[in-house]
Amino acid sequence: MYEKIIDSAIKAKKQSYSPFSKFKVGVALLTGKGRIYTGGNVESSSFSLTVCAEKSAAVKAINDNDMVFKAIAIATNSGDFEFPCGACRQFLSEFSDNMDIILVKSKNDYRIFKLQNLLPHKFKLKKKG
Ligand SMILES: [Zn+2]
Repeated sequence: MYEKIIDSAIKAKKQSYSPFSKFKVGVALLTGKGRIYTGGNVESSSFSLTVCAEKSAAVKAINDNDMVFKAIAIATNSGDFEFPCGACRQFLSEFSDNMDIILVKSKNDYRIFKLQNLLPHKFKLKKKG
């Protein structure tokens, strides 16, 4: 069911700019419109400015006014399942807290979680207007 975004996430590791940590992250975000947005992590010499792959893909989709997220596949070069950081869980939940989070080790080895189970008590402001 998620083969295409799992494959896209594995390929998206090439988009990573990670000269400091060498920790390459590639993601593929599937939206409600059926589009796939990929992203890689982008490190900075000033480490706190580093942008996660999940956030970079989500920003592309949001800028395209494609704001309902179905699922995101996350692949890394660590050889293990890597969860999205807390900040990314919060960022993604702004748009779709019921989305699937797919942790990818390889094409045939992945785990699926619901975002709301990974972030049970999210911060939420009421939207105005
Ligand atoms: Zn993150």
